[in-house]
Amino acid sequence: MAGASIDRGIKAVTGKQKRYSVFSLAKNASSYHQNWQQAWRHAEPKPEYDAVIIGGGGHGLATAYYLASVHNMTNIAVIEKGWLGGGNTGRNTTIIRSNYLWDESAAIYEHALKLWEGLAQDLNFNIMFSQRGVLTIAHSEHELKEMSRRVHAIRLNGIDSEVLGPDEIAKFVPCINMDQSIRYPVMGGFLQQRGGTARHDAVAWGYARAADDMGVDIIQNCEVTGLKRSGRRITGIQTTKGFIKTRKVGCVVAGHSSLLAEMAGIHLPIASRPLQALVSEPIKPVLDTVIMSNAVHMYISQSDKGEMVLGAGVDKYNSYAQRGSFPVPEHMIAAAVELFPFLSRLRMLRHWGGIVDTCPDASPIISKTDIDGLYFNCGWGTGGFKATPGSGHVFADLIAQDRPNAIAAPYALSRFETGLLIDEHGAAGVAH
Ligand SMILES: Cc1cc2nc3c(=O)[nH]c(=O)nc-3n(C[C@H](O)[C@H](O)[C@H](O)COP(=O)(O)OP(=O)(O)OC[C@H]3O[C@@H](n4cnc5c(N)ncnc54)[C@H](O)[C@@H]3O)c2cc1C
Repeated sequence: MAGASIDRGIKAVTGKQKRYSVFSLAKNASSYHQNWQQAWRHAEPKPEYDAVIIGGGGHGLATAYYLASVHNMTNIAVIEKGWLGGGNTGRNTTIIRSNYLWDESAAIYEHALKLWEGLAQDLNFNIMFSQRGVLTIAHSEHELKEMSRRVHAIRLNGIDSEVLGPDEIAKFVPCINMDQSIRYPVMGGFLQQRGGTARHDAVAWGYARAADDMGVDIIQNCEVTGLKRSGRRITGIQTTKGFIKTRKVGCVVAGHSSLLAEMAGIHLPIASRPLQALVSEPIKPVLDTVIMSNAVHMYISQSDKGEMVLGAGVDKYNSYAQRGSFPVPEHMIAAAVELFPFLSRLRMLRHWGGIVDTCPDASPIISKTDIDGLYFNCGWGTGGFKATPGSGHVFADLIAQDRPNAIAAPYALSRFETGLLIDEHGAAGVAH
């Protein structure tokens, strides 16, 4: 589990950014936002940085923020080919939890959850973190037994988790269909009450604003097209805005990780696949928790705007197209309507896909490479949003110190040679 130095890192992450007063908010609102202060500068690349982070999603921005706030590395840049949060960060269904099976997973996801609990204060930004609970339901005796094993393992790691019986579920989620004659009846489940959701865009914006306040250059609409090296050392990156010299490069590009790795002649054990989600038209509050079902491959929550947010498993083929095939939403909606019959009367508002980076053991990669100064953080697959603060925190540590801390060490690329895999496929049935 997290060592003392990691705890110190958490405590160091406070109070470094500007405060924005209520008065300036009111003044700007009454001027029709004409003098509205930009949340972050539109930086242009400098010729050289101490470190460059490729990818302006939550993980990349969090990495930059912790490099600056914990390690005092402020001569750094985040390079994003599109707009901040336009990748999976802005496309995900925002489920946050830390109830994984193995000790290594418990360490990183719980580290992240602890950071989530103080993140709005740390960033001075309302990320709308809501610990409304995540309930995973069981539809068979076998699933129930498996869940009870998981709950024991999770609790042994000091993480909250409890088994709920059918009566408790009916009370906790009054709108769920408890009819035992349906295709997949609800027979029980397990709950992490500290789990929940957060506003995905706000997480990207909050990290970006706080990092910018400390001097980090955030460069959007700038694609990295090449990684330059001299022998076994990285020396810079080629971008659509020119060459940038640097001796440290952190790649945090999720579904595009294999493409970046290829630029350095590295082959990653990653498959990129579409993952879809959709939201309904908004309705009054009806569901105040997150429900997941691995057996029927569906999960659902209600956004603060009132939309029902639904997702399922990955499409069955590799692709870089940010959309998916029709059978996945069809299957997802059938399962959702069976569990929540009132959904059948709702219309769909939006539907989209993102490209997720899946590893053979359904666990991430946080690693140095054979090339000095080149680091990868990827492989979060269908479930990396929840890890955003923890991932950024330990990745910043790895880049700054050039060695992994206790939490990051098991996630090195070398595990695919040693066989020390962290198989979270059970948690990754619907790993959100
Ligand atoms: C539909 C869907 C639902 C999901 N639901 C959940 C959930 O409920 N809970 C959960 O924990 N996780 C969920 N996930 C997974 C989660 O979204 C991701 O694991 C996480 O957001 C990854 O964050 P990131 O910052 O690493 O990647 P991203 O947000 O994808 O950021 C990577 C960035 O890199 C940029 N980039 C790529 N190539 C280049 C280049 N050459 N040069 C410059 N920039 C480049 C991209 O434009 C992108 O903005 C879901 C994902 C999807 C698609």
